[in-house]
Amino acid sequence: MSFSDFHGNAETVHRLRDMLARHRLPHAVILSGARGSGKYTLALMLAQALNCLSPAETDGLPDFCGHCANCRRIAQSADLEARLAEALEAREGLREADKKDTRLFVQTHQDVLIIPPDPPQMMIKVDQVRRVIGNIYFRPSEARERVYIFPDSAFMKEAANSLLKVLEEPPEFATIFLLSENPGELLPTIRSRAMIFPLKALPAEEVDRYLAKHRPEWKLAQSALVARLCEGAVGRARSFDVEAYVAARSDALAILNSALLGADHTQLFKITESYRPGAEGREKTEQLVRTLYLLLRDLMFLKSGATELVCNTDIQTQLTKMAAAADFDWIAAASDRLAEVERGMRRNLLRSLSLDAFGLGMEKVG
Ligand SMILES: [Zn+2]
Repeated sequence: MSFSDFHGNAETVHRLRDMLARHRLPHAVILSGARGSGKYTLALMLAQALNCLSPAETDGLPDFCGHCANCRRIAQSADLEARLAEALEAREGLREADKKDTRLFVQTHQDVLIIPPDPPQMMIKVDQVRRVIGNIYFRPSEARERVYIFPDSAFMKEAANSLLKVLEEPPEFATIFLLSENPGELLPTIRSRAMIFPLKALPAEEVDRYLAKHRPEWKLAQSALVARLCEGAVGRARSFDVEAYVAARSDALAILNSALLGADHTQLFKITESYRPGAEGREKTEQLVRTLYLLLRDLMFLKSGATELVCNTDIQTQLTKMAAAADFDWIAAASDRLAEVERGMRRNLLRSLSLDAFGLGMEKVG
């Protein structure tokens, strides 16, 4: 691994490495960007570059070797989901009395601490920040720089205020990374003590190139579809569940076709019946609703001749036929009705019924 393995946002990465080279990396760095945009990957790479035992240069800028003891141990935190599951399991194994005082951390290197939001509230609690305060002023033992990474900067109020105190007087040898999808939600006083580096959405062609390398088993049409669905975030693209999406889309197409063509309703009911109440059914229905929106948007693009914006390119022929059968008013009305289904879901109306109503209701409009 090295910085060359980081995909996209070359300018931001260059700026950060340039600051590393001049020993001017700020003590508090906010990496902002959508889910899957690479914030955590980049923070870990910078932690490695700060602490690599045989640091190399590439393109005239600092890099990390990926092989030394520090690099390897920091890299063990890369699979955050797995490390979090382990930490959570360890906590579950504690005595009841200890459980509630134990906060979650991920630490695969003595001097690099990852502070995740604590479940079930999924917020960073003051005890977690106190642990940071408890060791940030001690010189690192095996690294040059103590590194603290908050993978999702959702702070409880008291926790944010405690962190602020650290940011007011950070030690020379510590760097704090705050990762955030929306840095506007951070306290302005925290933002003003940190420097923000945005990770922007990548164009579909760039995601396509990334997928060719990391998902070689996907067919071209699949990759092209995912590249359009992941909203420019390679992390989301790589872990995208194409099969689940295509299954939801096939149901969504059947519902729209039934509404557009007023075909016999047996198939519509057969589909909507499979959307059951309960947690699993909820997720399935949410996916279906998202997919219905995307299809309606594609129909709108096709009708207005903006074909380059179509998302579901792999079924464009089929969508073009549907677009010919629908008019703008119908598409707009369908979007409104879909919003009603969503509201119904929030009120916990029986999902299959509200989906039936959606499918049948759209026929009358047409
Ligand atoms: Zn190294």
